[in-house]
Amino acid sequence: MKSDIQIAQEAYIEPIQSIAGSLGLDVEDWEPYGHYKAKLSDHLLDKLADRPTGKVVLVTAITPTPAGEGKSTVTVGLGQAMNQLDKKTVIALREPSLGPTMGIKGGAAGGGYSQVLPMEDINLHFTGDIHAITTANNALSAFIDNHIHQGNPLHIDPRRVGWKRVVDLNDRALREVVVGLGGPVKGVPREDGFNISVASEIMAILCLAKDMKDLKKRLSSIVFGYTYDQQPVTVHDLGMEGALTLLLKDALKPNLVQTIENTPAIIHGGPFANIAHGCNSVMATNIAAKLGDYVITEAGFGADLGAEKFLDIKTRAGEFEPDAVVIVATIRALKMHGGVEKDNLEEENVEALQLGVDNLQKHMETIASFGLPYVIALNRFPSDSEQEIKAVTSWCENQGASIALTEVFAKGGQGGLDLARKVVNTVNTKPKHFHHMYKLEDSIEEKISAIATKVYGASGVSFSAQAKKQIKQYEALGWGNLPICMAKTQYSLSDDPTLLGRPKDFTITIREITPSIGAGFLVALTGDVMTMPGLPKQPAALKMDVDEQGNAVGLF
Ligand code: ADP
Repeated sequence: MKSDIQIAQEAYIEPIQSIAGSLGLDVEDWEPYGHYKAKLSDHLLDKLADRPTGKVVLVTAITPTPAGEGKSTVTVGLGQAMNQLDKKTVIALREPSLGPTMGIKGGAAGGGYSQVLPMEDINLHFTGDIHAITTANNALSAFIDNHIHQGNPLHIDPRRVGWKRVVDLNDRALREVVVGLGGPVKGVPREDGFNISVASEIMAILCLAKDMKDLKKRLSSIVFGYTYDQQPVTVHDLGMEGALTLLLKDALKPNLVQTIENTPAIIHGGPFANIAHGCNSVMATNIAAKLGDYVITEAGFGADLGAEKFLDIKTRAGEFEPDAVVIVATIRALKMHGGVEKDNLEEENVEALQLGVDNLQKHMETIASFGLPYVIALNRFPSDSEQEIKAVTSWCENQGASIALTEVFAKGGQGGLDLARKVVNTVNTKPKHFHHMYKLEDSIEEKISAIATKVYGASGVSFSAQAKKQIKQYEALGWGNLPICMAKTQYSLSDDPTLLGRPKDFTITIREITPSIGAGFLVALTGDVMTMPGLPKQPAALKMDVDEQGNAVGLF
């Protein structure tokens, strides 16, 4: 079997002007970044404002397992299939982070015959957006430390600077560091730490900003720490919003590329869904909806994480409503939810599958409780047996749910035609009563409880003493009406990564709540979720190289 990179390198790739041309874009609407990538103008949305808005289809999944689900693959494959059915469709994806690419996950540019191109660039430095985000984030750290060093006129308490430095790598050694060591000329010592870039507030801001003006407004309202008398200090207080906006001015422009079947794809922004809000940028989704009759977009991890944040945070910031949801499931992952060990997944096991569908059922209920119609995409792997496929499809049909066996990995768009027809039918005929899971005016506790009980299936929430204190403080500061961004393990509906399937009778523990005022949400940290991942014993990077012709090898 060919590897993803072999398939990608053999594919015919159109010059990017053909893709821009197929979308009806004028020369001033885009800017080439090499032969196969382009940046779209940040004024494009104003120009397209009078066009009708396309239907937005969100791709989410069951609770992920190390067996792999294939959301990006299905998103790309579904977009290709829609175009094969002559439905004008644009795909909107996230930019891969180098942390997981070099670590464990593999690429995030789809797989098999459903990939976005050029996959090497997209998986590595792409158009530099994540580097710009890293730089803007670290510029703010440098400005803060310099301010403190130069006499500290704002009276910033060095012990209360919550803003961390970032790097787009999995680097556990940097989780906690001390900066400013070495005597008076080296600055003022303080405890600091690093997050992965894609978990940074700057990434969330870039993804939620409507335009350059909104970007600057959000950057200026970042609260990075507190004064000695515990008053919040913002980027505006430092006077740095102009410089940060400047560092991000090109990163704000969405990137246009294409799939293996030359379907247009906009790839922009890439926040993690377990510690950030997990969706590509509002600008990219809204532009895609003006350029296509349909947008296929994804949100990270399971429906409890990415989809919940897409529906409660992104739709509010972007002022749009999705029209339908695709829930990706695989037989391998369902078997793991039914108790099978990873090493035994190749063996047929219908009984385990019948237990594992509990997890799928919870995510179906969640999407239905947002008032949205959905289709299940059963992403076919070579080890799936006919009996197993039959067991899942009959179970779904008995539930009255629409399911499509999806073979986009092996066959490209052709393998997603059934899914595409069902998605079109769902969007155009099934009723939609979209609503958020909570009201912004609800108290912080009520909002967190709504997510924990209705989306995760928890019996309740327990708040640490620290979280309770923070809630009071944030309400007093006027931040009580913000949406909540939950930071939770992706591996379980609960906050315990070992509880697979559909855990019952569990409580969610809120350890700490941190304000992301520029992004416009409060982050509620559960369990011991990390904002800087580590590398595994055998990182994916061990297989990577460059051949004698200068081509990337070993990128999956
Ligand atoms: P997600 O978006 O859910 O994280 P991806 O689409 O990135 O998942 O897929 C994860 C990995 O699994 C990729 O390396 C991809 O090539 C592989 N993959 C996805 N679907 C299939 C499939 N049907 N058969 C074989 N491998 C697949």
